[in-house]
Amino acid sequence: MADIKRRRKSTLKKKEKIGKKVVISKVRKEKEWKLLYAKKEREKATEEYKGLCVNCAKRKTCTIEKPEGGIWRCEEYVQEVTVMAKPERKEKKPNLYQNVKKQFDKATKIMGLDPDICKILSMTTNEILVNFPVKMDSGRIEMFTGYRVQHNNVLGPYKGGLRFHPSVDLNEVRSLATWMTWKSAIIDIPLGGAKGGIQIDPSNYTETEMERITRRFTFALGNNIGPDYDIPAPDVNTNAQIMAWILDTYLLTLPPNQRQCGIAVVTGKPIDLGGSLGRDKATGQGIVFSIEEWARDKKFNLKGCTYFVQGFGNVGSWTARLMKPHGSKLTAVEDVSGAIYNSKGIDPEELVDYAASHNNLVSGYPKAKSIDHETFMKTNADLFIPSALENQITAKTAPLLNVKLVAEGANGPTNPDGDAILQSEGIDVIPDILCNAGGVIVSYFEWLQNKRNESWDLDEVDIKLHKKIVEAHKRVRDTVKKYETDWRTAAYIVALSRLEKVYKERGIFP
Ligand code: NAD
Repeated sequence: MADIKRRRKSTLKKKEKIGKKVVISKVRKEKEWKLLYAKKEREKATEEYKGLCVNCAKRKTCTIEKPEGGIWRCEEYVQEVTVMAKPERKEKKPNLYQNVKKQFDKATKIMGLDPDICKILSMTTNEILVNFPVKMDSGRIEMFTGYRVQHNNVLGPYKGGLRFHPSVDLNEVRSLATWMTWKSAIIDIPLGGAKGGIQIDPSNYTETEMERITRRFTFALGNNIGPDYDIPAPDVNTNAQIMAWILDTYLLTLPPNQRQCGIAVVTGKPIDLGGSLGRDKATGQGIVFSIEEWARDKKFNLKGCTYFVQGFGNVGSWTARLMKPHGSKLTAVEDVSGAIYNSKGIDPEELVDYAASHNNLVSGYPKAKSIDHETFMKTNADLFIPSALENQITAKTAPLLNVKLVAEGANGPTNPDGDAILQSEGIDVIPDILCNAGGVIVSYFEWLQNKRNESWDLDEVDIKLHKKIVEAHKRVRDTVKKYETDWRTAAYIVALSRLEKVYKERGIFP
């Protein structure tokens, strides 16, 4: 009996040995029955078993007495199973478009958007997916998938960046395209919303391969882009050089006598090819103008305040550089290579120089210590400026933040759960569709300069940009008061009201 007990105890322990046959116990302990038997004994049994022991393989021959009534189970049910190795759990990419929908639904309810206009704006207009082959340096062919989603052009030509990143997919591009429509509407420029990209990790390709990939993608898009129809610009992992390749490829598809009119097909071009002064820093400049507006509202002194930045590419690095004249102190920076921290401050210009000679990465910067992601998110500072990717401030990370303001440089850095936590914690948010609109504003200026054959000096660009940001802040601030809502919802209401008005004036064809 003692032997049986010992054996039972050992089989009760759940053992999981990957790939091996093991005995596991599946027990529903009905203690009062104290049914006890072991496999060995059951094998000896000969009488027919009439009980309700549903699990036992030997139930037909089991001689063990069973209690009357109820469902009778072995106290210890043993079963031979093969435990398979658990498949490695791949982190499921959150569906970014759900965030867009939730933000949209909240705003439409509060403002009472016309249900017909709501139907139109809740869908994209065109979704273009192209698979195209490119010859690698080795001579082999690789296939790529590119996207261009055109959300809405009721206010003007489609407009929005191109992203080269492994995470690019239809939902991501849809979301970014939709946000572009809202952005142009908030800042009151005659442009619509679009976004595109290629699902690719550019760090795996040489420069000559990237040039061929970009040109072939442009060719595949064909007349789905154009200076009066859809105008791409830089976004994550794309820059002025990529825009130059797109421009050149696009122009070569036009008849020679039309080529000069085609240079407005992209913005964010190199200056010599028709780019605008101030476009490279425009998004960062707009963020800093937005932070100034917030500081003015809150009577907050930016001099000596602390901030930290996630992403040190175009947006993050320019924002940091442009915060420097305010005397604000950058204490932590995170990019794809890791995070760094220095309580005494990190000089943005020095970090830009360091990154430029280290593959555009910040890790290893000698004047700051390396920290992990959680410590980075917990940085005690006045401002946090996420300028990398989406879904960074979530239910999990929002409680870590210890700041007064989140100024969203990136598109969609805060998901709705994260947003709710920021609101409950009393952390102010300048939403992406307002905060990072400087990029599309100066893209619009570049497009205008191309159309008019003009080139504006930097002061003119900056003054006009500042005016646009200040006006947009005023519209959103007034809407916050009118609807007693948060800044993101108010920004949506500003955009949706404008689009609703235009749709009602134009009517729906036919
Ligand atoms: P970029 O490619 O120049 O820089 C991206 C930065 O993010 C890099 O420093 C990269 O290392 C970092 N990064 C990437 N993955 C990261 C991760 N998992 N954790 C931390 N850092 C990470 O891109 P960008 O043009 O600066 O764009 C950044 C964000 O700003 C994007 O959301 C983009 O859509 C948005 N945005 C850009 C512009 C623009 O004009 N470029 C305009 C408006 C909005």
